[in-house]
Formats: sequence, structure tokens, C-alpha cells
Amino acid sequence: MAAIRKFLKSLLLIELFQGLAVTGRHLFVRKITVQFPEEKTPQSNRFRGLHALRRYPNGEERCIACKLCEAVCPALAITIESAERDDGSRRTTRYDIDLIKCIYCGFCEEACPVDAIVMTRIFEYHGESRGDLYYTKQMLLAVGDKNEAQIAKDRAQDAPYR
Ligand code: SF4
Ligand code: SF4
Repeated sequence: MAAIRKFLKSLLLIELFQGLAVTGRHLFVRKITVQFPEEKTPQSNRFRGLHALRRYPNGEERCIACKLCEAVCPALAITIESAERDDGSRRTTRYDIDLIKCIYCGFCEEACPVDAIVMTRIFEYHGESRGDLYYTKQMLLAVGDKNEAQIAKDRAQDAPYR
């Protein structure tokens, strides 16, 4: 009996029509596909995108070369070298992040005591060779300088929860 039912189902193309019914049902419902890059989905202010190094409003680098971010990074993506300045303060002479190694966990920005290393909302970047995604201190500072307004706004929104 089961074999006959299966044969009839196959002969009358029942499964084909069932499939077409599903297609028909979805043909006129509201489409939810986002037409990226013209359309974008909302982003959290805690989005973990491209890293940036920040400065204080007077232009001084925030980073004090404590190396907490380097120590906490589970991917060993951060490399820091530091030196003492003439005024006795300590600053980095090298601050590199290998974004190929980075797993975007956000531990570095959480560990930073002075909000120097942060992760921005920027996700539209790419590299065509491995070296393109090796970000140096100057590159990270440039990202910070360019996006400081958005970074400060996002951090202020988060302040009550930190
Ligand atoms: S986001 Fe995580 S993996 Fe990437 S540099 Fe920071 S601590 Fe390392
Ligand atoms: S970015 Fe922050 S955690 Fe990392 S070395 Fe500088 S001050 Fe320390």
C-alpha cells in the first residue's frame, strides 16, 4: 500500500506542487534582504570593528604603554615596545596589531585603563595581502583621529555600564 501511495505521489508531482506552494506563499510577503552596501543594518555602540588608538583633546596620546592589552590578548596579536620620554613619562615606540591574528574579542579595550585602544564601528576594510592588515601605531592613531567624534559618543553612551 505504501509503495502504491509513493508511486501515485511521484506520478502526480505532489511534492513539486507542495514546493511551488511554499514559493508562492513567499512571493508577495515583505522582503527582508538588506541591499548592502546601499542599505545597512543598525549597529550597536559596542560593535567590535577596526581598532583605533585615541588621543586626549590636547593631542597627547592616551596610551601609557602599560602593556595590559598586550598581556591580555589571547591571540598574541599586539606587539608593544616602549621608552621613557625626557619628561619622565612612558610612551610606546611601537604599537602594532596583526589583524589577521585578531579574533575581535574586545579584551584589549576592556583591559585598557585609559581608553586608549578601542574598537570602532568600522567593518568595511580589507587587505589584499597579509601585510595590509598589519596595523602600526601611526595607522591606529590615524583611525582614532579620524573617528574620534563617533568613538567618544559611543563610549559616553556606555559609561553608565562600566
Ligand atoms: S580584540 Fe582580542 S584578539 Fe584582537 S587585539 Fe584585542 S585582545 Fe587581541
Ligand atoms: S593601549 Fe591601554 S592597555 Fe594597551 S598599553 Fe596602552 S594604556 Fe596600556
